[in-house]
Amino acid sequence: MLALIQNCSMPLARTVRPPSRTQVQPYFSSAVRASMSPRVKSPSQVLLGLSEKELEQLALNCGQETYRGKQLYHFLYQRKCREIKDFYQLPQGFRNNLEEAGWKVGRSPIFETVTAADGTVKLLLKLEDNRLIETVGIPVMDDKGLSRLTACVSSQVGCPLRCSFCATGKGGFSRNLQRHEIVEQTGIKFILCEQVLAIEEVFKHRVSNVVFMGMGEPMLNLTAVLEAHRCLNKDVKIGQRMITISTVGVPNTIKKLASHKLQSTLAVSLHAPNQKLRETIVPSAKSYPLDALMSDCRDYFRQTNRRVSFEYALLAGVNDSVDHAAELAELLHGAGSGYHVNLIPFNPIEDSEYKRPSKRAVLAFSGALESAKITVSVRHTRGLDANAACGQLRNKFQKTPLVTDPIGLGVSC
Ligand code: SF4
Repeated sequence: MLALIQNCSMPLARTVRPPSRTQVQPYFSSAVRASMSPRVKSPSQVLLGLSEKELEQLALNCGQETYRGKQLYHFLYQRKCREIKDFYQLPQGFRNNLEEAGWKVGRSPIFETVTAADGTVKLLLKLEDNRLIETVGIPVMDDKGLSRLTACVSSQVGCPLRCSFCATGKGGFSRNLQRHEIVEQTGIKFILCEQVLAIEEVFKHRVSNVVFMGMGEPMLNLTAVLEAHRCLNKDVKIGQRMITISTVGVPNTIKKLASHKLQSTLAVSLHAPNQKLRETIVPSAKSYPLDALMSDCRDYFRQTNRRVSFEYALLAGVNDSVDHAAELAELLHGAGSGYHVNLIPFNPIEDSEYKRPSKRAVLAFSGALESAKITVSVRHTRGLDANAACGQLRNKFQKTPLVTDPIGLGVSC
């Protein structure tokens, strides 16, 4: 039995690796060094996130036939079981062996759920080390019910980049998320949104879209993000075109992402039409000049043929004038074609010096872009009554996500 258990646990441990280091520029060196060094034990015994092939190999290592691996795959990704004991088609002995060898599904408990009047559901998940992460389910209803369900997932616990308008940045940084933790948010969001919105639809609708726009900078955790992207696409069966990876811009990473030639959208958080203003809103921009960022975006479009979308948070009196819009249009025209601008009127957060722009200012800004032939949309902020801005809900419960407080949660309420 001991030999069997060792077989069961050893080879797969090698397949789940912590994120590798990514080359970064000076500004990022300290923040990234922290984010690239997982401070918790690698989840080497977690099933969620493993591919069908890896699960077949696990079954073989446990002395089972290959098809048992396919069954594991089925219970993980189709039935979305939370516990190995619920894999009822598997022999009891195999299930026992897996559990005794330390394997588990890898789903985290839900710490808090907040539902906004518009049906948006925001969750706090409690990770193994008691850290809290946010994840948001955004349903779109039509005459027939739930037509689309977008999962906004977090890629880090907190964020080291400290953009001046962001609640997550203000809350500090704890660690990167591992592959199974990113995938898990999608599963939980799927289940919860369905429960909250329409019980009967719970098992009939899937998450249709995933946006990596939750807590954290995905490009600082690119290896795990790419693995999660694979799993979401191949195992959870979400189309690549339905997945958006967002970044504020980390040197050398957009090129790396482009080289994978994914059919997913790249969303770049620009927030300013020139370098000087951008540095005041996004401090990390000091290490990534705007012309280098735009050149990398051009490269992404060339390599993938996928449109790049630019996110632009409109901050009253800071970057929301018609002149700023004209400057932005000029910048984008200079960068070629294949771009789209998403305007996001600032969502007020606690202790912020920024204010939400008036409706008139938003319309004037978008009108100026349109008349300069830039395609633009204004994002309707969902869940305004549910601590909608990224990081707001997490900050309510856990303002400082430092790893030195593994038990006390740092709960502030
Ligand atoms: S906006 Fe994104 S990159 Fe900037 S601090 Fe917030 S989570 Fe980090």
